[in-house]
Amino acid sequence: MDRTSVSGVDAPSGAGTLPDLAHAQNPEGVLSQLAVKTEQGLSSQEAAQRLARFGPNKSQEAAPQSIWRVVIHQLRSPVVVLLFVAALLAFFFQEWVEGFAILAVLLLNTLIGFVTEIRAIRSMEALRLLGSKSATVLRDGQLQIVDAGALVPGDIVSMEAGDAVPADIRLIHASGLAVDESALTGESVPVDKMVQAVPADARVEDRSCMVFRGTAVVRGHSTGVVTGTGHSSELGRISDLVATAKSERSPIERGLSKLAGQMVWLTLALTVCLALMGFLRGEDMLLMAKTAIALAVAAIPEGLPIVATLALARGVWRMASKNALVERLSAVETLGATTLILTDKTGTLTENRMHVAKIALPFGVLEASDVGAGDLAANAGLESLFVAGTLCSSASLGKDDSDGVGDPMEIALLRSARQAGMERTDRLRALPQVAMHAFETEKRMMATVHSDGAAYLVAVKGAPEAVLSHCTQVLDEAGAVPMDKARRDQWEQRIADLADDGLRVLALANKRVSDPEAEPYSDLVLLGLVGMVDPARSDVPEAIRLCHSAGVKVVMATGDHGSTASSIGRQVGILKDGARTIEGHELASMDANGSSMRDARVFARVSPEEKLFLVKAFQQRGEVVAMTGDGVNDAPALRQADIGVAMGIRGTDVAREAAVMVLLDDAFATIPAAIREGRVIFGNIRRFAAYLLSCNLGEVLVVGLAILLALPMPLLPLQILYLNLVTDVFPAFALATGEGDDGVMRRPPRPPGEAILGRPQWLRLTVHGVVLSGATFGAMAIGQVVLGLEGNALLTTTFLTVAFSQLFHVFNMRHPASHPLKNEVVRNPWIWASLGLCTLLLLVPVYVPSLASIFGLVPPTAAMWATILGMSLLALFLLQIAMIWLNRGKVS
Ligand code: ADP
Ligand code: MG
Repeated sequence: MDRTSVSGVDAPSGAGTLPDLAHAQNPEGVLSQLAVKTEQGLSSQEAAQRLARFGPNKSQEAAPQSIWRVVIHQLRSPVVVLLFVAALLAFFFQEWVEGFAILAVLLLNTLIGFVTEIRAIRSMEALRLLGSKSATVLRDGQLQIVDAGALVPGDIVSMEAGDAVPADIRLIHASGLAVDESALTGESVPVDKMVQAVPADARVEDRSCMVFRGTAVVRGHSTGVVTGTGHSSELGRISDLVATAKSERSPIERGLSKLAGQMVWLTLALTVCLALMGFLRGEDMLLMAKTAIALAVAAIPEGLPIVATLALARGVWRMASKNALVERLSAVETLGATTLILTDKTGTLTENRMHVAKIALPFGVLEASDVGAGDLAANAGLESLFVAGTLCSSASLGKDDSDGVGDPMEIALLRSARQAGMERTDRLRALPQVAMHAFETEKRMMATVHSDGAAYLVAVKGAPEAVLSHCTQVLDEAGAVPMDKARRDQWEQRIADLADDGLRVLALANKRVSDPEAEPYSDLVLLGLVGMVDPARSDVPEAIRLCHSAGVKVVMATGDHGSTASSIGRQVGILKDGARTIEGHELASMDANGSSMRDARVFARVSPEEKLFLVKAFQQRGEVVAMTGDGVNDAPALRQADIGVAMGIRGTDVAREAAVMVLLDDAFATIPAAIREGRVIFGNIRRFAAYLLSCNLGEVLVVGLAILLALPMPLLPLQILYLNLVTDVFPAFALATGEGDDGVMRRPPRPPGEAILGRPQWLRLTVHGVVLSGATFGAMAIGQVVLGLEGNALLTTTFLTVAFSQLFHVFNMRHPASHPLKNEVVRNPWIWASLGLCTLLLLVPVYVPSLASIFGLVPPTAAMWATILGMSLLALFLLQIAMIWLNRGKVS
């Protein structure tokens, strides 16, 4: 496994070669071999040259599907085979015109199928690009964010907790670094990483001075130099061996494929029976054979799965334009069935744009707005608090108050300190930082260590209960005094008061030590509390109302204090009468199915493990759970949830990887918008499938009944083909593009696991078949008895009655609970366009003389038109009545 230089690449000397055994060398050796300096990084020019030389930082990806593959896929379908047989049959019996007509229909249908499939494939390929990752890299002496695919050997990269490792990297600096390598080695416990070189023969999992592409940083931060990208990374070697994972099909696509498969056998059996029966009755054998083939072609819904893919992919695009990036097609379907959203608070429900409102010091509470320059000199307690607040931070504040970088809470602290005349940069110069204990969700605290002459100052900030429980003293006017029971009670009261105001509370503490390695969180001196305002996002209350009207429960789970959480919960409408707030530690003793769990809408002070517990408990109750999360520790719960939702701005790579949906704007309101899309798409696919099937089944029934009852044939084989392969297709596509109506978010979620075509759909299919047959034979009777038609004139009447009944049938595809005239089908302009187009397509074989004779049609008289339109409209009317009747008593 030892790395030598990449085969086939002649590395010009001095311009950087892939290092041999980077893990066995010192960082300096690796850097010089890669011809790069840590302070400068590569020049962008050099990076571009290396990108051309070493190739992009990607594994072998499924090459774009070639057009020919798609064509061949189209030609291999059973419909094409059947049509081919039909055409051969026609040629065999020397019916040249009909043979060519079948071939023309075949060509047209393949073209439609081809365009659909290409569009579906191209949308999927484009979607894959949307999800690409970025990396923080030093180039031309400046930190930049670049696409991870553009990394080259020699790039200096920095990483911190939550980042995905973008390439194979030799560490140069590492502090408290731990990496989850399970993707590479299968080892689920995070491994510690450090800079020291390891023996040359160390195995991959023992190379503790290297981090590898595809793994994730769970703790600490580091910089390193890229030693392997793309194929020359360890992951690249593996994934080149293991064939790239097949793109997984969503349940809806699988369901439709299965349905299509079943239909094939059903109709083949049916048509063979019909043909046999017709033959036994003495009908023309050739006509029967061709009719059977045409019906079989008609009834095979082979376009269903691919149109479903297209509808899903289009839906994913639409969601992306609304800031919801869905990373798996199957998620779209699940989204539509979501019954419960488990959301975090900070940044999702709130703006995450904080400012300090109140400061609690031993002698009393200050309004932050009153604090001004000069107050520090007069108030030693306030000064100590701000010193800790500015030191214990990873944020920085630019010249202007608005250009802060980092955690909004820390930025707020820096701003507040600046208002009092204190700058973080000045403090850091006076008290240089020597160590940092990053914020951990379990401890809810962070600490930094600073050298202060011969001793060290430890600055701590964190959730107030956590900090308070580690404080043994408190800074009073007279200096540090012991934290006795009375003082502790008093501080607990202050915490509660601030939290009751809806403020996010932080406690600050410090201590002096002689050993910088000492445990940071013990024997602390409490300095005071800071209460911050984090206003709720203005669009959240409306979004939550929308969820409630759509039958989707909204539950908050936050690491924040119970009172703060309840206050925000009330503001946005999550916490209403009867709903409860529960603290994380109470969960252990609670029954997951108990009434108190059922009534709870806010869970406060929950740890990531408790979030996972909540997701499981809700799922056990039968809920389909969408859960938001941003941190490294949220990953297990995100994976467990039916829809894991990660944050695009605030979130970590690890959370993004575990999630199936990313909110590009971090906003809660994007979730109901995505749920709406999911519902619309599911509805569209269902409508589209039901429409095509009911047209096909209707034709089978019409022809079958005619044979059974020894009536004249209402449709000729070529007509059947024309109806199915040309005219039905356009209204079906139009149905698949629907954008939904207001009712979409006023109806309860679809029961999870509900079939695309369940009993109600089959019932409607059957009713439609019966009504269509009735209308067709009605038209036949009127034609024969009243108008005295026969031959092609009679045939024209029945053919056009079937054709127009089917076109009008799109209006029966509205949601059963919607208004008969005001609904999404009527409002969809594509429906009207497709109806116009199809009418034209129907008039062509009727009025163009040469085609008319091939199709066995004649130009209808006014009386025939009246019969055709009258019977088709009657069918529409009857089906609408049936729908209202079947749906009686159900509220919209
Ligand atoms: P939330 O669900 O509101 O995002 P978190 O789990 O992020 O909650 O934070 C929980 C608590 O930990 C906060 O209320 C705050 O008191 C404390 N906290 C959060 N971030 C930091 C930080 N960077 N440094 C110190 N304390 C923090
Ligand atoms: Mg948070």
